[in-house]
Amino acid sequence: MPTIRWSVDDQELELTDRGALGVKLAVPGQPPLAIPPMTLGAWPVPFPERALVLRTVRNLNAVRFQLLSDGHLVPRSRAPRRRMRAMDDARCAAHPELAAYAVCLRCGTHACKPCTPDGVLCAPCMARATDDEIAQARRLRRLGLTTALALGASVLFTGLLVHGPRLVETGIGALVLSLVVAGRGLLAERRERARHLPTAMDP
Ligand SMILES: [Zn+2]
Ligand SMILES: [Zn+2]
Repeated sequence: MPTIRWSVDDQELELTDRGALGVKLAVPGQPPLAIPPMTLGAWPVPFPERALVLRTVRNLNAVRFQLLSDGHLVPRSRAPRRRMRAMDDARCAAHPELAAYAVCLRCGTHACKPCTPDGVLCAPCMARATDDEIAQARRLRRLGLTTALALGASVLFTGLLVHGPRLVETGIGALVLSLVVAGRGLLAERRERARHLPTAMDP
């Protein structure tokens, strides 16, 4: 079962995709949040001092999961990401009147609590990290589609070479299926984007 982890304010949230059973998000000190399979939308997550939202977005005909803290996308973490505490008298770089809550793990900026929505990175570093994630998801999606098309095409050409009608049929079937899946996903994305739904924000 694929799992995704996010760290917010030294707490670990773990999402498990149980396929046909749907998705479960484990939140420390809270009953788990359950979402039915293949459902796009946004769910508020009970969490102290932060507005956390779990969002499911379209990735062709698959679903991708995003966690937002105070409106900022939280980067995923393989290992727990602990807050680098600032010295007691340290001040926020953007708000000198506020005490620093954390030192950004990437750029070393001192950040007050609103300036570090996950308690680990400053907001600009969070945005860069999640941009990288989305770009990688997009690359993987493209790779998946090209691999499926290449496989279908090679089966089709082998069938044509050896005059095997079964192989030709299988090859055409695989090509049509990959194109239908991709086309349906792209159309749905376009419709959702035209209606400004948040589900289409992760192309
Ligand atoms: Zn930073
Ligand atoms: Zn600040």
